[in-house]
Parts: sequence; structure tokens; C-alpha cells
Amino acid sequence: MVRVMFLKVKTALSKSNLPDLDYALNPYVGCIHSCIYCYAREYTREKLISENWGSIVAVKENLIKVLAREVRRKPKGTVGISTITDPYQSLEGRYQLTRRALELLLMHGFRVSIQTKSDLVLRDMDLLTAYAEFIDVGLTITTLDDEVGKLIEPHAPPPSRRAIAIKRMSEEGITTWIFLGPILPGINDKRDVIEGVVKLAAETGSTIYYDKLRIKKFMYRSGDDVLRNVISKARRVNWPSLYEEIERTCADYGVKCLPSFNEGEVVKLDRFLGYT
Ligand code: SF4
Repeated sequence: MVRVMFLKVKTALSKSNLPDLDYALNPYVGCIHSCIYCYAREYTREKLISENWGSIVAVKENLIKVLAREVRRKPKGTVGISTITDPYQSLEGRYQLTRRALELLLMHGFRVSIQTKSDLVLRDMDLLTAYAEFIDVGLTITTLDDEVGKLIEPHAPPPSRRAIAIKRMSEEGITTWIFLGPILPGINDKRDVIEGVVKLAAETGSTIYYDKLRIKKFMYRSGDDVLRNVISKARRVNWPSLYEEIERTCADYGVKCLPSFNEGEVVKLDRFLGYT
């Protein structure tokens, strides 16, 4: 049972120092999807929510009002939706903050980069296609096995639905990409798992961004056996060699493939922060 709270914000668009984003917009605080590895809790200031990750989510009730002012005043740029929450978690079906924010941003000349694990993004296909040249959409796909998905991303839509979503968007001419991360030793680091995701990227013309598991303090406190097992294996992984294998597989399928970190330079730091 998820508890829903409401809060008021002073800012809708937060400045981003990332090379590929000018702003971040997070319509909700917290995330129902409850991925076992989620780093976003570490970047969420509301303690009640970060300490009860997945069971309390706040709706930014005045977000659209604040954004309506900001789109007129702030310089145009690219907005990442979202960086520390999933913009299409099920609450979005009811509150529609993401949709209304998208409408405002696109009507006022901003570019938008969406990242989600939810096929609810298809609801907004009318906007995505009407403004296709100003939008890219990333689906996080860590595995194509729904059972494995349930273990590590218990309340997110299954990977099979995400795969259908990315295919639909690609068919409609929307720029798509896949976030293959985090790579969890013993879960999604095997050749066949990676190859499955790469094939999907090839089929949909998507770029892949990939990243290894970044171990965080909260993980040691987790009572989740799967996560504890993954952490214990993570230190023994030869990451450079695994990265090479990913790159090779991508090359075999003609897929553009980029690490989220490139020689210290962040390519998609927002994705690293939230793994939305
Ligand atoms: S990783 Fe993303 S989708 Fe999963 S709980 Fe965190 S914010 Fe939500």
C-alpha cells in the first residue's frame, strides 16, 4: 500500500550541470517502482520518503502553476524528465503532472529528454509524435526476463511491456534509447541477457547507455537477499572486460553504445543518479 502525500514547490525546473541537460524536472518525490538498487533515494531530500522508498510518494501539487511561470522566464534548453523519480509511475495515470508539464515545455520551445520504466509513456504518444523533433525517450531495460525484472524492479511494469513501448515509439519515428543499467553481477551480466537488450536496440534504432552497479551505503543496510548477493559478487567483476564485451556485442549488431561515464566525463549523469 503506497501512501500519497502532497507538497508545494518553489521551483519546477532545476538547473542541471550535466553536459546533455540544462534542466531537470521531477513531478513526484519518491517512486513506487521500488527497484532494489535505486540510487534516487540518496538524492531525495525528504527523509521520510527516502527512508521509506517505494511506500511513500509525494505529488508536487503546484508544479504546473510554477512551471507555467518558469517557461516564460527561463532560457530555453533541454529538460530531463525525470532524474530522481519515474515520471510515468502509476500515480501519473491519475495526476497527469508529467503530461501537463510536457505540454507546457514543448509549447514554449523547450527540448525534452524522457526516461522511464513504464509503458504509460504511450498514453502521451500524441504529444511525442507531434513534437518528435524536440523529444527523445529512454526506456531503462536491465533484462528482458519478466521474472528477473520482478526480482529487481518489483513494482515497475515488466520488461516485456517496456520492449513493446520502445518498439511502438520507434515505429512512430520518435528518437529512442535504452539504459542498460545497472549491470548487476549474477543477474544481468551474462552474454545472452546483454545480447537480448542489444538486439532490441538494433531493432528499434536505439542507442544504448550502459553502467555498472555503483555500490551505495544503503545497500549494505538492505534486507534484500538479491541485493546482498549482488554486492558480494560486484567486487570480483572485471568491469573493463565486461564493458568490452558489451561494446563488442553492440558492434556486432551495429548498435551505438556508450558508457554512462566516459573517461571521467559524465555522459548521462542524470541517469546515473536516478536510474529512473
Ligand atoms: S530506479 Fe527509477 S524507477 Fe526504480 S525506483 Fe528508482 S526512480 Fe523509480
